[in-house]
Amino acid sequence: MKLILATNNNGKVKEFKELLTPLGFEVLSQSEAGIDIEVDETGTDFEENAILKAKAVYDIEKAYVIADDSGLEVDALDKKPGIYSARYEGLKTAHERNMRILEQLDGTEDKRRTARFVCAICLIRDNGEVNTVRGTCEGRIGYEEKGTNGFGYDPIFVYGDRTLAQMGESEKNSISHRGNAIKELLKII
Ligand code: IMP
Repeated sequence: MKLILATNNNGKVKEFKELLTPLGFEVLSQSEAGIDIEVDETGTDFEENAILKAKAVYDIEKAYVIADDSGLEVDALDKKPGIYSARYEGLKTAHERNMRILEQLDGTEDKRRTARFVCAICLIRDNGEVNTVRGTCEGRIGYEEKGTNGFGYDPIFVYGDRTLAQMGESEKNSISHRGNAIKELLKII
């Protein structure tokens, strides 16, 4: 059965292919499926944005479609950057966004630095049925960037006593919001 991932992000494509191919799906990225669209992420939460992205692909091809949307919620910043994680305050690089969050938390004590990564995944089946699942990863914001693995906010997100950027890929996947959302997806697919 054909399954299209509504993304061209290579990391996500690799992770989903590894998990879903053994279940008998022929997993294709959006570009491998010959679909060239940019979807405006106008939703008000992660689930709405995942649904928007999945529906745009399903409207073009009535196959199984999966889309995800993710980001970081910092409690002391009223859950910002949230759905605006990729473009927080218009800053261009991940390093600039990390430094902005560290600045905004300057003087904030440890117990108020709680944060979580959130990942919503939308699955549309070939018959049009829509489901969403959510995974989270609870941690806190550190005081400086640490580690060189991963991407985005990983260097400032502390889980246990290390940042996600100090973990290997498989260790991160085993505790990450995306890993947890995928576990939920596998229960319903
Ligand atoms: P998207 O779901 O691919 O649109 O990701 C949104 C943004 O959230 C990314 O650009 C990153 O800034 C942030 N983000 C999502 N997942 C992670 C992660 O696992 N580590 C670090 N940053 C992440």
